[in-house]
Amino acid sequence: MIFTVAIDGPAAAGKGTISKAVAAQFGFAHLDTGLLYRAVGAKVLAGVDPVAAAQALDPHDLEDDSLRTPAVAQAASEIAVIAEVRSALVAFQRNFATRDGGAVLDGRDIGTVICPDASVKLFVTASAERRAERRFNELAAKGMKIAYDQVLTDVKTRDARDRNRAEAPLVAADDAVEIDTSDMTIEQAIDAAIEAVRSGLGAQ
Ligand code: C5P
Repeated sequence: MIFTVAIDGPAAAGKGTISKAVAAQFGFAHLDTGLLYRAVGAKVLAGVDPVAAAQALDPHDLEDDSLRTPAVAQAASEIAVIAEVRSALVAFQRNFATRDGGAVLDGRDIGTVICPDASVKLFVTASAERRAERRFNELAAKGMKIAYDQVLTDVKTRDARDRNRAEAPLVAADDAVEIDTSDMTIEQAIDAAIEAVRSGLGAQ
């Protein structure tokens, strides 16, 4: 069975948690496509050319814990504006999306560019302040010393770059179901996503 769930939205809106929960609920595979851009960003910080890094990306590169730092997130959003970087990553994402047994992909352009025919599309969003608060708590729990104001600035900078770029900007697909998690608990957000996927499965 080919069944693709596309989950897009800005940084720290809850896409990752929701995607993992949807994948677990329905037994689908999950790909966090942000990791592809983070892995390229990390290589660029180490001095590699961005296009060469994207073309040579190995799935094992995605397993590195250091990809979760704010510096790598910013580097990722900087190289994500480069058309050749994005096109080098398309085939891997589309192959993943059409694997047998169902797949959930989360990112910025899954429902618009990578999988425009996805079975279900969700756009997960929240206010910049709520997202910064959640990201701050996540980083603090990992022992990272960073000020909330810095996290908020980083979130807003990344949002602006992701929304305003020429290539595959962050935008909800016309047929996406929007889930605003600003005033939701994580359980409520997961329930809303599962409900949307269940109705998509029912419609097949
Ligand atoms: O989702 P995450 O915060 O890990 O993504 C890091 C950066 O990678 C984003 O800010 C965005 O610039 C880029 N990205 C993208 N397209 C995707 C996923 C991530 O441009 N599908």
